[in-house]
Amino acid sequence: MTAELRDELDRIAAQAPARIDACASPEEVEALRVEYVGTKGSITRINKLLREVPADQRPGLGKRVGEVRSLVLQKLQEAGQKFQVEDGAGRQRIDITLPGRTFLLGRRHPLTIALDRITSIFSDMGFTVADGPEIESEYYNFEALNMPPDHPARDMTDTYYVAPQWPLRSQTSPVQVREMEKRRPPVRIIVPGKVYRNEDVSARAMNQFFQVEGLYVDRNVTFADLKGTLETFCRRFFPPKTRVRFRPSYFPFTEPSTEVDVSCILCNGSGCRVCKYAGWLEILGAGMVDPNVFGFVDYDPEEYNGFAFGMGIDRTTMMRYGVDDIRHFWENDMRFLSQFE
Ligand SMILES: [Zn+2]
Repeated sequence: MTAELRDELDRIAAQAPARIDACASPEEVEALRVEYVGTKGSITRINKLLREVPADQRPGLGKRVGEVRSLVLQKLQEAGQKFQVEDGAGRQRIDITLPGRTFLLGRRHPLTIALDRITSIFSDMGFTVADGPEIESEYYNFEALNMPPDHPARDMTDTYYVAPQWPLRSQTSPVQVREMEKRRPPVRIIVPGKVYRNEDVSARAMNQFFQVEGLYVDRNVTFADLKGTLETFCRRFFPPKTRVRFRPSYFPFTEPSTEVDVSCILCNGSGCRVCKYAGWLEILGAGMVDPNVFGFVDYDPEEYNGFAFGMGIDRTTMMRYGVDDIRHFWENDMRFLSQFE
């Protein structure tokens, strides 16, 4: 086999220079490049066959492969230069009709875009942004939110623990409690942040996601204030013709509680796959703060009341853009991420 390969290399060395010199266009040069040194080219193939050559003959043959390859590459380069346009002084001329090279600009992540918009809308209504830790104590994650250890509501969330009594927060509500401890009413905050739940990951569910919660506490806050605030938000965040509806619901730390739907953005309420042919999309949970919660932060429930709300940013963003798999947000695939402005 060694002899055959050597013969073939000699044949290439004898023929290639003349063939390359005879090329009349860059395309012909390229075709020969592929034929000799492309991934399936003849020299490349011989190089791969070196493995099967007896060990004592391998270095000699390997050297010959290297020589022939260098010879062919040298001729290819010369031929390539021949076709480059030159001006009278021998300088390479720039073809200004060619498209320029573009650089990939960084963009904001779609979840960041949504969070920024939400923050800006609530800022206009007088809310400020509050932040808190992602590793929480059970006290802030459950107890202070009206969920004592035996409360059935603790089963509503499957919680990750980093240590006994130290969960990864399953909602951003602990920050509401921390803020109320720090200051007296009026409190008007939104809390954007990441939360964790021990859920099976699928196209519709992720074990980590972003939430925005809001809290407004003052004297004489009514359910009408809640409705007005959330309707204003929905009108500004979603397209102008979006309709909003409130449904009764249950949450451990609000009473009464409500869920807010908007008419489906994609089908405008006529029914489609995204809204499961209901015409409505559920986007928010909200309610009047349960007086028990005020007891934990030493606010007088006779004097103060308020409302709270929360929504998942990932799901809301999916609805807004018609994204069909929540995992896209976490996979850092530029083909996906570059579609958002
Ligand atoms: Zn729809």
